[in-house]
Amino acid sequence: MPSFLPPAARKRVLAALGERYGGRGSGLDYRNPFELLVAVILSAQSTDKMVNVVTRPLFDALPGPAEIGALTPEALVPWIAKIGLTNTKAKHIVATCRLLLEHHGGEVPCDYEALVALPGVGRKTANVVLSNAFAVPAIPVDTHVYRVSNRLGLADHGTVDGTEQQLMKNLPRELWSEAHHWLIWHGREICKAPSPKCDACFLTEACHYYNRRGKWASAEAVAGEHPVGKAKAKGRA
Ligand code: SF4
Repeated sequence: MPSFLPPAARKRVLAALGERYGGRGSGLDYRNPFELLVAVILSAQSTDKMVNVVTRPLFDALPGPAEIGALTPEALVPWIAKIGLTNTKAKHIVATCRLLLEHHGGEVPCDYEALVALPGVGRKTANVVLSNAFAVPAIPVDTHVYRVSNRLGLADHGTVDGTEQQLMKNLPRELWSEAHHWLIWHGREICKAPSPKCDACFLTEACHYYNRRGKWASAEAVAGEHPVGKAKAKGRA
């Protein structure tokens, strides 16, 4: 049986996250759905900061699918060379631009199936574009959303897809898009991988991880006042 925060605690957690991170959107710079789509493809295994460094000059010189789609992938590589997985991303972006021109009039489609049919676009990328560029309620589950929601008890699942499904059930639909940003910012700033900064966190009262593991991990230093601490101290857990 999955173990979730009870509804009242979930509400308190969402309110606290909203108070702390409300108004903060994506860390990626973009001016239209096309720029967002390319930026999200580039962001795989990279940071938003690095993507922004690359996309500013790229979009100033090559502002749309016609300009980028006219390049070969090899010609695009120097523009995005600071980003990892450069050759693969260049191939995907050029192919995506050409498909946008061929099938969508050069526009990014506001349609999940059409988006995931584009090279380099998976479920998370499609949901980021739908949510941020077209205000379609969605919860794109990246590494931060996955980790933080499972630690907190907003989800309790070992897979990204399962976590997304649980979050869609456990969070009010009108908060999906905003809450996904809040979870990302909380993961970047406090609930980090591999070591969450629980001492600096404002969610300890409700957090599953903290109440089951985090606070007793630090309590080991005071000789296992708690069964979990004792077990760890004796090397049994
Ligand atoms: S208490 Fe710790 S584990 Fe829980 S959300 Fe805060 S930082 Fe993350």
